[in-house]
Amino acid sequence: MHADVTGIAYLIAAICFIMALRGLSSPETARRGNAIGIAGMVIAVATTLADPGVVSFELIAAGVVIGGAIGTVIALRIQMTALPQLVAAFHSLVGLAAVAVATAAFYAPEAYGIGTVGDIKTASLIEMAIGTAVGAVTFTGSVVAFAKLQGLVSGAPLVFKGQHPLNAGLGAVLVLLVVWLCLAEAPAAYWLIVILSLALGFLIIVPIGGADMPVVISMLNSYSGWAACGIGFTLSNTLLIITGALVGSSGAILSYIMCRGMNRSFFSVILGGFGVEGGQAAGGDDERHVKAGSAEDAAFVLKNASKVIVVPGYGMAVAQAQHALREMCDTLKGQGIDIAYAIHPVAGRMPGHMNVLLAEASVPYDEVFELEDINNEFAAADVAYVIGANDVTNPAAKTDAESPIFGMPILEVEKASTVLFVKRSLASGYAGVDNELFYRDNTMMLFDDAKKMTEEIVQAL
Ligand code: NDP
Repeated sequence: MHADVTGIAYLIAAICFIMALRGLSSPETARRGNAIGIAGMVIAVATTLADPGVVSFELIAAGVVIGGAIGTVIALRIQMTALPQLVAAFHSLVGLAAVAVATAAFYAPEAYGIGTVGDIKTASLIEMAIGTAVGAVTFTGSVVAFAKLQGLVSGAPLVFKGQHPLNAGLGAVLVLLVVWLCLAEAPAAYWLIVILSLALGFLIIVPIGGADMPVVISMLNSYSGWAACGIGFTLSNTLLIITGALVGSSGAILSYIMCRGMNRSFFSVILGGFGVEGGQAAGGDDERHVKAGSAEDAAFVLKNASKVIVVPGYGMAVAQAQHALREMCDTLKGQGIDIAYAIHPVAGRMPGHMNVLLAEASVPYDEVFELEDINNEFAAADVAYVIGANDVTNPAAKTDAESPIFGMPILEVEKASTVLFVKRSLASGYAGVDNELFYRDNTMMLFDDAKKMTEEIVQAL
């Protein structure tokens, strides 16, 4: 294909990707955004395949068939709740690909048109070094994130003395190695860059834990974008550069939004050491009184309300209770009760987790509100129906300076006249902190699986 035609086709694909991101910024336009993104990808792949530089269609076909088959099987089997670790695992592959492409370019520069062995263009060496470094950091960082999210290793932050000086020192040595690589083109310099970057990726992610994992996911998303961008430079592929930069910057923006959602500065998260291991039983004393209710009790309270705010959390995703929840809300709306859904920016286990589930259950978008738009409404609500959410409602974030979630804005459910908590036990959430709301007078605990309890409430209504 003529270079001009390729350039124009790539430009159209890039515009499609930008429009896709625009579409994905709101649930109403997300489907259209996805469709435009798919169209852009079809154009990008077709244009690349039409490139006269393609060496072997057989190898490409083999890669597509094998990779596509593995991807399809994983996508069909994956539990919704395991998506964050799947995303982390896929990010690690992008990082590995960047290292592989840079290594290939280092040993076979002629194939990439960037010089000959021992005489590679300096600009290409710099691009290669940055690409491989970002790729290696992404790889080990993502593997650590995967292991933490999958529960293979402790989710707690691992902090040790001298961590920050060590990371800073490694960063400085990396810069010197890039200079060495550019001056001498030594394979030793190249491989040291790879090894130190692998170590750095590990060291950057291990100190981040517990409640800060959302930021890690979006941060790795951003790194994988920059790694792809690096591959784009090595391959002199403008579309890959643009796409990588789009992913890199949107991941960075998402990290910023997540940090804001948790009221953390970006640097305090990167420098790490927050959060504790999640999921254990709450450390609260058993002496405290807990008011537990049945589905009938809950139905009675809900029926007599005029305004109900629903707060979904991770447990709703585990139980896949979104359809039952919408049915319950439809029934209540039919009885003239005002319904709103309140979404915390880090509810669930991935950015936008709750929005996706509610959209899947066809909850009307105009009933779904972000934290800052709904928090003032709780005081006027009769019932807060907290379904599988915990950390995002925990007042310790406001009152306990020692708490790992201290400073995170929370949904102020306790201001509603009655708080109904649907969960299976008094166990803590992801951040591993006891929630004193369970013991308050205006709280009624509904101990059960979120879907089962909600279905029973629908029956009782
Ligand atoms: P939490 O993790 O705080 O709490 C979820 C609660 O759901 C648990 O306490 C659990 O209690 C309950 N639960 C689990 N399974 C079920 C079930 N089948 N039926 C009913 N309840 C169930 O969730 P939140 O959404 O409130 O907060 C999200 C937390 O996750 C935050 O700490 C956030 O930082 C973190 N996080 C968020 C990410 C993101 O991107 N959004 C990514 C990674 C972490 P019980 O066992 O008693 O049922």
